[in-house]
Amino acid sequence: MTRRRRGPDPARLALNCATVRRQWTLPQMIEGCLRHGIGGITPWRDQVAAVGLKQSAALIRDAGLAVAGLCRGGFFPAADQAGRDRAIRDNLAAIDEAATLGAGCLVLVVGGLPPGSKDLAGAREQVAEGIATVLPHARASGVPLAIEPLHPMQCAERACINTLDQALDVCDRVGPGVGVAVDVYHVWWDPNLGRALARAGEERLLGYHLCDWLVPTRDLLNDRGMMGDGVVDLPSIRGQMEANGYAGWAEVEIFSDHWWSQDPDHVLATMKARYLSVC
Ligand code: ZN
Repeated sequence: MTRRRRGPDPARLALNCATVRRQWTLPQMIEGCLRHGIGGITPWRDQVAAVGLKQSAALIRDAGLAVAGLCRGGFFPAADQAGRDRAIRDNLAAIDEAATLGAGCLVLVVGGLPPGSKDLAGAREQVAEGIATVLPHARASGVPLAIEPLHPMQCAERACINTLDQALDVCDRVGPGVGVAVDVYHVWWDPNLGRALARAGEERLLGYHLCDWLVPTRDLLNDRGMMGDGVVDLPSIRGQMEANGYAGWAEVEIFSDHWWSQDPDHVLATMKARYLSVC
């Protein structure tokens, strides 16, 4: 089935719950999505845990929302075996939670360097091994794993997978059941983006995260922009996603001290309006 459109499809808009996490609880976010006609939601595990897993699943289902994804698994590298084993157990639990929620994927922020380590190649190897270890459980649970490459500025602390190609190399290595989450904030600068999206193909394009890159960026983590306020060519990236078969959610994920200080209904109204006008 093809779902080609000339502009953003309002029925594919999803809220990543990081966007209003300081203002609202998960139940309030669900209500907010209903008020603003947003059909998909991607909760974070701590937000789900605060309500209870079964209760969260019931609230989202009763609201008629789709769970675009669950944030997040990953953080595989650790200084010792006990730490690596802990990470595996945590990822297996995240897979179970994603299955209970009926999530479209489990987003993996893979982790960076273990404390005190300078062994970047070793950390990247631990990531590939960690994903391979939990993959059979993900497949059996029907939960696709979505590797999210992060901007290289977050390589040490959050994710030592920093380009789509690097993520796809891991996908190639471990086999089916793993794809990528394409977050414009992390990949917009990549000169190989177009080729990497084509390489990923429909099967492995599991998520599409929207925000914008502000100039200047004042904080490496919490100064993402609302779509249209920065320099990312959002229609171009959406077009390339769709040209390669992506027909999934357009998920707005904005980590921003500014937007976290705003009325959350204003944030949702703005993100919907901008999605329709500039994405
Ligand atoms: Zn993202």
